[in-house]
Order: sequence, then structure tokens, then C-alpha cells
Amino acid sequence: MACDLLLKGATVVDPSQNMHGIFDVAITDRKIERIESDIQDEAQQIIDVAGKYLTPGWIDLHAHVYAGATTFGIKADALCLATGVTTIVDAGSPGWTNLRGFLEYIVEPSRTRVLTFVHISSIGLLNSMRGEMEDIRNADPEHTARVIAMWPETCTGVKVRQGALQVGDNGVEPLNLAIQAAEMVDTRVMVHIDKGVSLPSILERLRPGDIVTHCYQGKGDHILDGHDEVIPEVYEARRRGIIFDLGHGAGSFHYGIALKAFERGFYSDVISTDLHVYSIFDPVYSLPETASKLLNMGLEFEEVVRQTTVNPARAIGQEGQLGTIKPGSEADVAVFDIPDGDFIFTDSHGRQESGNRKIEPYLTVRKGDVFYPETLKTEVKETLRRAAEMIEITGVPYGAIREIKPYKPIVE
Ligand SMILES: [Zn+2]
Repeated sequence: MACDLLLKGATVVDPSQNMHGIFDVAITDRKIERIESDIQDEAQQIIDVAGKYLTPGWIDLHAHVYAGATTFGIKADALCLATGVTTIVDAGSPGWTNLRGFLEYIVEPSRTRVLTFVHISSIGLLNSMRGEMEDIRNADPEHTARVIAMWPETCTGVKVRQGALQVGDNGVEPLNLAIQAAEMVDTRVMVHIDKGVSLPSILERLRPGDIVTHCYQGKGDHILDGHDEVIPEVYEARRRGIIFDLGHGAGSFHYGIALKAFERGFYSDVISTDLHVYSIFDPVYSLPETASKLLNMGLEFEEVVRQTTVNPARAIGQEGQLGTIKPGSEADVAVFDIPDGDFIFTDSHGRQESGNRKIEPYLTVRKGDVFYPETLKTEVKETLRRAAEMIEITGVPYGAIREIKPYKPIVE
């Protein structure tokens, strides 16, 4: 039997199937047909990927892609396909008032699968520099629940940001309202943690399956106590099934916090970028770049893949559908090189760490179509040009470090 595409000889790593070994992957009718050693079938296209790592297409659980309609939204489609990401989840750029535009202008035209959390603030994150929940009247659980019920295939839950800059004097009330909305439609909440609202007061409200994002943030009210121990409430939340997401961004990945957490054996469940206009140039760049930081901190590649495939899929209730290359699933695949070398990585506060391995995208298969970084270069450059244009309008918020320089993985 002839297949459409045969990827030959890579080390296949798919934690959803406990698979780790050298196999060939056959794709037919935009689905994974089978994974076996040495498939000799005829194929429309054969790609030799020997010496490389093949995984399910990566899922970026936290990004901001409502380009043109929010200050920090980035036009991410080409970037995703150039970096192994086949599903990107917007962490609450739209609220219920502007979700319809997000579906029409972002989700529908994208080749990448785009999903979103709906912000409890009706206006979403229009102006990321202003506190969207300083005015409690912005929250509307009924309307938020209604749009999630109307578009359940795209809406993955309710988003809320719980730092003093976002909520002003409202404390945890925005979170209470987000949970109220989530309960109406039996979905999850993703909560951004930040300086100014105590972490235990947030964690005690969360339900199993809710997601804490920015788990290694170092701005304040973070996961460590004054003696650099992970606070007991964090362990207790994990025991209850709360999910911890990295969400790197321009201000939320702190090497000091992350390295201490690693020493204590506390690891994120999900690696995500919090990619947006202010984080794309520096220090985030891409999901493989973010994952490379953890690889060099000692996380095994298989665990990296778990945290970018099956774990984010489970976090949004899509385990078995997404983040897997089990035969019959949609053909979303990522292929990487992991070269040795001397590499420098930077956190959100300008701290640099060196590393000797880096995860570099080689090709992405999205629904059976093959994309190479090289052929997406022009589109990626246009994405960066637009991001720089947005920064020219807005300036740089909160002193986020950001240097407009070439996008390392793709553009020289
Ligand atoms: Zn974010």
C-alpha cells in the first residue's frame, strides 16, 4: 500500500504511547497511518530524518496571537510552523466582546490550530499595559460562559490575571468571578500569578484541572518562601491536581526561582512561551528555545516532549486527540535536531546561563503538510516587522527587556 508521506529513521519520542526508539512514520490522508521500524512501502514523498528527533507536533499552551486587535498580539502562524508548534493556545487575549473577531480573523485563516482561553474581563487584553480587572465591572461570568458554550471546540477555558497591576484593589475577586464562569460551562481556569496578590489565597480557590501560569516567575508572590523552599501550598495544590505552566514571557521566567525549584524537585507540568510582541525578540524567541533552557537545566528530552505534547493536551481536555502520533490521529509532527555546542540562554530578567545542547526545529508537519523554517523565512520576517511596528506605537511596558534583533532560530 502506498502512503502520502514517509518520515524515515528518526528517533521517535512520543510519551503518549511510551514510545522512544528509531522508527519510520507513515502518513496517509493527513493522518498518522502507522509507526514501525523500516517501512518499505511506496510513498508520494520520502524524507530521510535519520539522526533527528521526531515527536508529536508541539502545543504552546500560553501565547498572545490576537495581532492587530491587542497591543501585544503577534501574528504567529508562520512562526509556529517554523518551530514545530502545530497547536497554539491564546491565554486570554479575547474577552467575550471580541471573541467573534478572534475566531474570524485569527483562528479561521491560520494553518496552525489556534485555541483560546476567554478572559473574564469582557474586553480581553486590548491594552496589555493597563489593568484589565482594575474595574470589576469588566468581569461578566454569564457572557463569558455563553461564548465558551457557543464555541467549545476553540475555547479552552477562562483566563484571569491576578497581580496588583492587573486587578488594582480587587484582590482575588476577579478569580472568584472567573471560577464562577468556568463552573457554568464545566471548564477550567488559567490564572496568571504575579506580584501583589498572595499565592496561597489564589491556590486555595483553584479546583483540580485549573492551571497556574508563570510558575517560575520571580516578580513577587512566587512559589518560594524566604528560605528558598517551595511553599507547602504549592505541593498541596499539585496533589489536588492543579497544573503548573511555565509561561516564559517578557517578565515571568526567573532562572533563580527555576533553578531552586529544580533543586527541590519541583518541575512545571507544561512548558509554554507566553509569546507576544514584547517577548518574541528577546528572550523568548520560540518554544524550542524555551524548552532548550530546561533541557540544559537537566530536564530529560523525553520530559521536555511530555511537557510540550501530552501534558498540555491533557491540560485542555484533549488527551488522545492532540499531542500524540498514535495511528489514526491527525498528522501533526515536529522534527528537531539537538546539536551540541556552546549556547547562551537568557531569562526574563537578563540573567544568562550557558548550555551545551539546543533543540533546533528541522521541519513541521501540520495536518499532513510539510513546512521547513527556510521556506517560511519571508513570512517570519514580516511577523517581526509588524511586531517592531507595534512596539514603536506602544513603547516597552514595565521595563521588559527587549532588544529588537534577528530571530535566532530562523533569520540570521
Ligand atoms: Zn500571557
